[in-house]
Amino acid sequence: MTTNNSIKNIVIVGGGTAGWMTAAAFSKVLGDQYCNITLIESDAIGTVSVGEATIPQIQLFNRILDIDENEFIKQTQGTFKLGIEFVDWLRKGHSYMHPFGTIGNDMDAIPFHHYWLKAHQQGKVPNLDSYSLASQAARQGRFVRPQNMGNSPLSQITYAFHFDATLYAQFLRNYAEQRGVVRKEGKIVDVVLRHSDGFIDSVVTEKGEHLNADLFIDCSGFKGLLIEQALETGFEDWSHWLPCDRAVAMPCMATKESLPYTISTARDAGWTWRIPLQHRVGNGYVYPSKFVSDDEAVAILRKSMESEPIAEPNFLRWTTGIRKKGWNKNCVAIGLSAGFIEPLESTGLHLIQSAIAKLLGFFPSQGFAQEDIDAYNSQLTVEMERIRDFIILHYKATEREDTPFWQYCKHMEVPEYLTKKMDLYRANGRIYRQDGELFNETSWLAVMQGQGVTPAGYHPLVDVLSQQELERRLMHIKSVIDKSVTLIPKQQDFIDKYCKAESMKKEMV
Ligand SMILES: Cc1cc2nc3c(=O)[nH]c(=O)nc-3n(C[C@H](O)[C@H](O)[C@H](O)COP(=O)(O)OP(=O)(O)OC[C@H]3O[C@@H](n4cnc5c(N)ncnc54)[C@H](O)[C@@H]3O)c2cc1C
Repeated sequence: MTTNNSIKNIVIVGGGTAGWMTAAAFSKVLGDQYCNITLIESDAIGTVSVGEATIPQIQLFNRILDIDENEFIKQTQGTFKLGIEFVDWLRKGHSYMHPFGTIGNDMDAIPFHHYWLKAHQQGKVPNLDSYSLASQAARQGRFVRPQNMGNSPLSQITYAFHFDATLYAQFLRNYAEQRGVVRKEGKIVDVVLRHSDGFIDSVVTEKGEHLNADLFIDCSGFKGLLIEQALETGFEDWSHWLPCDRAVAMPCMATKESLPYTISTARDAGWTWRIPLQHRVGNGYVYPSKFVSDDEAVAILRKSMESEPIAEPNFLRWTTGIRKKGWNKNCVAIGLSAGFIEPLESTGLHLIQSAIAKLLGFFPSQGFAQEDIDAYNSQLTVEMERIRDFIILHYKATEREDTPFWQYCKHMEVPEYLTKKMDLYRANGRIYRQDGELFNETSWLAVMQGQGVTPAGYHPLVDVLSQQELERRLMHIKSVIDKSVTLIPKQQDFIDKYCKAESMKKEMV
């Protein structure tokens, strides 16, 4: 039931992934009676059409929307993702996995990695990957959903998806329109502010139509049509820590077995991605314009690809950083308009999901309590800052100094929070995590170890176990993982059985 004070009209500006994720979630949670939801987008402007790798939290979004996962994968040409392989990041020729899920088993309330650290420092055990089911399954091209098998690592499989970004927006558009969201096609040319308080009164299309609302969601992409161009909210620039400011994307056909993980390969400056989908492979190169020209970037990307491109290069440009307020007056920026951190850990779509969840948590009435807005903004800022720090870690903790780009990264000053985190880990392998941080201990562990941040010690209570018992337990954990992996089918067989895209079935005939 609504009251006079309820929000009655919401206008979402933009129909990229952010706009349609917001529209879909609002249509599900608010229903079609609470208020009117209108989304306006311009086909002439288009979307970034990237954003194809996700993290496991997206499953929560799918559950809230009651999405049938197999149907969703079929319709988006999706595949599964068990983690990211980082190639050449520590040094050329080296690679490590940042897997989803757990690594090893905690014992006697002490995190597993402390036991591993002791044995590893003695040179007695293999690297961390050997204790991660996700890493082992990923490298062998295997995938299965979690099995109901008690203590088996097979019951703890954690996964995300790769999918076609354009098909994903289309999928969510169908979902939202079926639940009453009204889509309008048109270019917004003006934003009218109220004289009394500077709130947004309406947006105006090039045909002269005025769209009024109580709440505006700015999903207009990097430019921030409402939040920045109209409300002049301000932007905090983080590019001195993350100097990559461009990307070029080009898909190609797959020539190799489809493996359930993203590959990120460090280049002389920046890095390339490889994201396997059912119908194609997504490739991209994220680079710093200070060190690499656009023509060079295309050449580097093409050289890294396994087959000829099947589309023209899609160039993207940005300034890394965060909008000073994600929510300003009656406008909430969601997606690229709220800020951007490069896609190294596939956090863009998660930040959209998280902003939607926060906004639903602080959902306003007509009065717009400033306390709610402030709390939303400070939570968003903490979340983005911690993601930023995690991404910086990949650049800062490296042995590479072979190019001016890597020399800059290795020697740059980093945020104090990150320095403290690395110092704490270097001392005795301890990992501290603040409330509101996205990445968990496993993620920090995998990337710190993978990037060569190595502790001098380990948790002293590990010594409660005798040397013999320590080695026995570690060997047991590894053998359980090795055995469990053999029970997992190949990803391709799993997809063929449950969620093969219709177009792929036709190709087989
Ligand atoms: C290179 C790169 C790689 C990425 N990879 C990943 C990844 O692997 N995983 C991940 O989670 N995230 C990734 N991201 C982030 C992800 O792509 C974005 O978060 C996501 O696509 C959301 O974009 P958006 O909807 O905010 O903006 P856009 O896609 O730019 O959409 C903006 C919308 O606003 C509309 N619009 C703009 N101006 C007007 C106007 N005047 N009038 C009407 N409509 C207008 C446009 O038509 C469009 O519909 C990546 C981003 C980049 C740049």
